[in-house]
Formats: sequence, structure tokens, C-alpha cells
Amino acid sequence: MKEIRLEGLKQLLLVPSRIVITNHVNPDGDAMGSALGLSAALKALGHNVKVIVPNAYPEFLNWLAGNDEVIIFEQSEQTASELIAQADFIFHLDYNAYSRAGSMQDVLQTAQAKRVLIDHHQQPESWPDFIYSDVAMSSTCQMIYEFLAFNNWLHLLNKDIGECLYTGLITDTGSFRFSSTSSRTLRIAADLMDLGVKPEKIYSKVFDNNSPGRFKLLGTMLDSMIVDEKNKAVILYLSAQDQLKNNYKKGDSEGFVNYGLSIVDTEISVFLREDKDMIKVSLRSKGRIDVNKLSRAKFNGGGHVNAAGGMLTMKLDEAINHAKMAVQEKEQFLQG
Ligand code: 5GP
Ligand code: MN
Repeated sequence: MKEIRLEGLKQLLLVPSRIVITNHVNPDGDAMGSALGLSAALKALGHNVKVIVPNAYPEFLNWLAGNDEVIIFEQSEQTASELIAQADFIFHLDYNAYSRAGSMQDVLQTAQAKRVLIDHHQQPESWPDFIYSDVAMSSTCQMIYEFLAFNNWLHLLNKDIGECLYTGLITDTGSFRFSSTSSRTLRIAADLMDLGVKPEKIYSKVFDNNSPGRFKLLGTMLDSMIVDEKNKAVILYLSAQDQLKNNYKKGDSEGFVNYGLSIVDTEISVFLREDKDMIKVSLRSKGRIDVNKLSRAKFNGGGHVNAAGGMLTMKLDEAINHAKMAVQEKEQFLQG
């Protein structure tokens, strides 16, 4: 599904304005790359731009240009709330439902600003004044490139913005291997390289930064994995104790859910991580199974057809049983 309603926005953005750029709770590479990339471009147009994110993000993203000026809502609630209340425009990047903005939700909902949504998740809410929603896009970073292209603003791109956007391209496409990767995605990556982006550098910053604890945690998770051959499903989990023992830091289990899909013939992988008062769920599928639908029905979440998340408020052993039952019903949640 695709919805584009951007008429008149370029004209409005010719006047220097106060702009706040936001993204989703637990920001990932695409959320941070798109926010910082767009921020730099809008600053170059003469706007006063602030990037405000709901909560802290993993350290492997803190080298992105503009990182030092990011405002974390949970840590600076008053300043952030004032900036949001005074903004002329709020950009909502890489999410399409207020509930995904975490503790920023209420402040965003009551803001007076014009709302611009740029996102590639399923089923956007209807509040944006301007919307660019396309579930076929590899990443919000790709959409920021397209947004600059629509407006004839590609001349604003530079190496720093290129590095931000390239980061989201590789984190959301599994380094250009998921089915959301199109020939256009690769052409954009090539354009970013022409600006001076070095794939080796970005890859190394984002992926070659494993702590020994993260690898031990991976070992623990793989050791206890549940393979349901009949349903072509893999269930992975980490208890709070496993995390404590291995010195878990935010982002340490990023990407772990993909290991399930790398087992031969697997169609669906479910990863459960025990958090303070809930179980965080990640879902991935290959081919037919729509994990956005499955997550909405069974895991209080949503996302994309082949990558979604959610949460359960129950004990870990109950959540494991819940996941085992859910994958038995996977045929009810097909694409299309
Ligand atoms: P991850 O498993 O990497 O946390 O998330 C996979 C995808 O699903 C991401 O695009 C993410 O934005 C989305 N997602 C993760 N958790 C949730 C959730 O609780 N609700 C919704 N609607 N989407 C989620
Ligand atoms: Mn994304």
C-alpha cells in the first residue's frame, strides 16, 4: 500500500521554520539514520531543526553526524516538550502510530504543528497533514532520499547525510539481502557511495562492534532454541537472568531473531526477551507468512509483512507457550 499526499509542503518549507523530527521508541539504524539525514538537509535549507527521540538508542549509532545534538525525550522531558509545543512542523519518521512514540505520545498528540509522516510500515494512522507512506520501501532512509528527489533537493546531499542514509539502508535490509531490497535501493546506495560513503566503514561501525557479552548471550540463546519442524518455526528466547549474566546493554540482542530464519526450511522465527515488566517480541518470516498480521492478532504489535514486533505481559515460560501456539496458527496469517 502506498499513500502520498505532499502537495504544498515544499512551498511551506521555503520559509525558515521550527522543525522537530521524531522517530519510534527504541530507535534503530533506520530511525536514527533517517532522522539525522533529514535534519542535516533541512538545516541546509535554513530551518531550525531539532531531532527528538523517545528514548536512548544503541551505542553503535552514536558516530552518525548530528548525534551530539539529539535530544532524548525521556532524559530531557521539559525541554523536549517545549520544543514540540513550539514547532511549526513535526516530522514522524519510521513509525505511523502515536503509540510507537513511547512517552512522547501525549505531547505529540496535543502539538499545534503541521504533521508530516514518512514511513514504510503497514497501516498508517490517519492524522498526518502530509503523508508519504509506502510499505514497498526498503527503509525510511530510502524514502528520505526519494523525498529529497521529489522536491529537487538532491543537491543538499553530502557525505555525512549519505552515511546516515546508508546506515538505514543496510540495517533495514539485512545488508541488502531481504526481499524489500529493490534495484532502486541499490542505485541509491551507489549514489551515496558517489558522495564519498564507504560501505566498509559503515558496515564496520554498525556490525563489527560486538562485545564479548553479546556473543555469549547469542550462544545462550542458540543453546536453548526451540525448533518446530512441523510448523517450520523457530522460537528463541532470553530470560532476564541470561541478560544479567552477560552484562546486557540496550541493542545487544538486535538482529538475533534473524538466526532462526537461517535454519533450513524455516518460515517463521519468534524471539522473546524478558524485559522489566513485559516480554519484548520480535517476529521474522520468509515468503508467505505475514508477521504484521500475526503480531496484531497475537502479540499486541505490528510492523511489516516479513518483520514485526510486539509485546506480551506474562511470564517468560507462558510467553514461550503462547508463541508455540501462535506459530501453529500461522497459516491464518498469509500475505495479501
Ligand atoms: P524489531 O523486531 O526489530 O524490534 O522490529 C521489527 C519491525 O517491527 C520494526 O520495523 C519495528 O519498527 C516494528 N515493531 C517493533 N515492535 C513493534 C511494536 O510493538 N508495535 C508495532 N506496531 N511495530 C513494532
Ligand atoms: Mn525502518
